Amino acid sequence: MIRPALLSLDDALPQLLAQATVLIGVQSVSTFEADGRVLAQDVISDLQVPPQDNSSMDGYAVRSVDCAQEGALLHVTQRIPAGTYGTHLHAGEAARIFTGAPIPPGADAVVMQEDCEAIEGDHVKVNKVVPLGQWIRRSGEDVTRGATVLRQGTRLTPAELGLTASIGLAQLKVSVRPRVALFSTGDELVMPGDVAPEAMPAGAIYNSNRFFLRTMLQRLGCEVTDLGIVPDKRDDTIAALRNAAQQHDLILTSGGVSVGEEDHIKPAVECLGALNLWQLAIKPGKPFAYGKINRGVEVGVCHFMGLPGNPVSSFVTFLLLVRPFVLALQGVTKTDINRTEMTAHFDWPRADKRREFLRVKRNNQGGLDLFPNQSSGVLTSAVWGDGVVDNPAGQTISKGDTVRFISFAEWLS
Ligand code: AMP
Ligand code: MG
Repeated sequence: MIRPALLSLDDALPQLLAQATVLIGVQSVSTFEADGRVLAQDVISDLQVPPQDNSSMDGYAVRSVDCAQEGALLHVTQRIPAGTYGTHLHAGEAARIFTGAPIPPGADAVVMQEDCEAIEGDHVKVNKVVPLGQWIRRSGEDVTRGATVLRQGTRLTPAELGLTASIGLAQLKVSVRPRVALFSTGDELVMPGDVAPEAMPAGAIYNSNRFFLRTMLQRLGCEVTDLGIVPDKRDDTIAALRNAAQQHDLILTSGGVSVGEEDHIKPAVECLGALNLWQLAIKPGKPFAYGKINRGVEVGVCHFMGLPGNPVSSFVTFLLLVRPFVLALQGVTKTDINRTEMTAHFDWPRADKRREFLRVKRNNQGGLDLFPNQSSGVLTSAVWGDGVVDNPAGQTISKGDTVRFISFAEWLS
């Protein structure tokens, strides 16, 4: 029997993203609540930031021509704290000014207080030559009126929220959250809390995937319906998928997607719709599946993604495939992740036919250490590690080689 070649990740990902049509619907949310959401429109500024030229120092606003020589003596005629506005500054005058206060008309420079001596009778001696424009923050140097400060499809983080607030926006238009149904398969699975560790029956294991999958979906802006554990039975699997498809945009499952007799996911999806992708040339994560489930009465189709049950396989395939997909559903334009060139401080002498994602950690010498057990069941590797090496198919690694590193910090954000 000739087995067809597995699909490469580079072929699979664009096919997958081509299916991820942006969900219909826009929501207006408070800027405070918008962290992690995706902008559904360009954000354009109606004002300059800063609004006026202002001082970047505590000191004195002056006319630079009056301070062309060291030791100029000026008359202090006004005091301008932040939040107030001064009056015209004339020749021979200085204004006491504080950081953030608008530069008064007539002044064209600020001298910091450390370079001045206050003299009795409202005078100041300026001990330095003051260049034109010194310590002035120009109006619009951050944002100019009419500028597009953020583009539609940007995923909002705290810095973006601050920037939108700086142009006066208390509400932002964002894409709707994808509604995702999550379930785990596996008759061996037990929920932490339901059975104490010392009372675990032989052959049982705790459901760990449910915890990180749900959390990662929420971090990515999804509204998650957690359907718990579905028994390893064809009818139960079909019923769970059919019901979940009605009210969700995506069904995400873990386990049961390989070729064993107890793996019912694949035939169940084929019975209710179509399986478009199955099995990728990646390690861990080969059994990954993508398909669509017909809704029947309701309009449209529901996306389906099946992740392998092994925890590291589930974790890695989520990040490689589900993450960009749910971001794309929200209209995110940049879903790919940066790979940094780093030096391997380990040997990986056995090349694999599949592209591998090896759990590694950055060390203090600027290199990468490898977790000794790369088994797809060892979740400790993902906790010990702070990222993966994206190693091409057929590639060995020797100490000193340059490899491509993906950081969990960015990938999980
Ligand atoms: P499967 O993909 O169903 O063949 O499962 C592969 C391996 O992952 C088996 O050893 C399962 O016991 C384990 N596994 C499946 N689902 C989970 C889960 N939710 N949490 C932890 N381990 C799991
Ligand atoms: Mg199973």
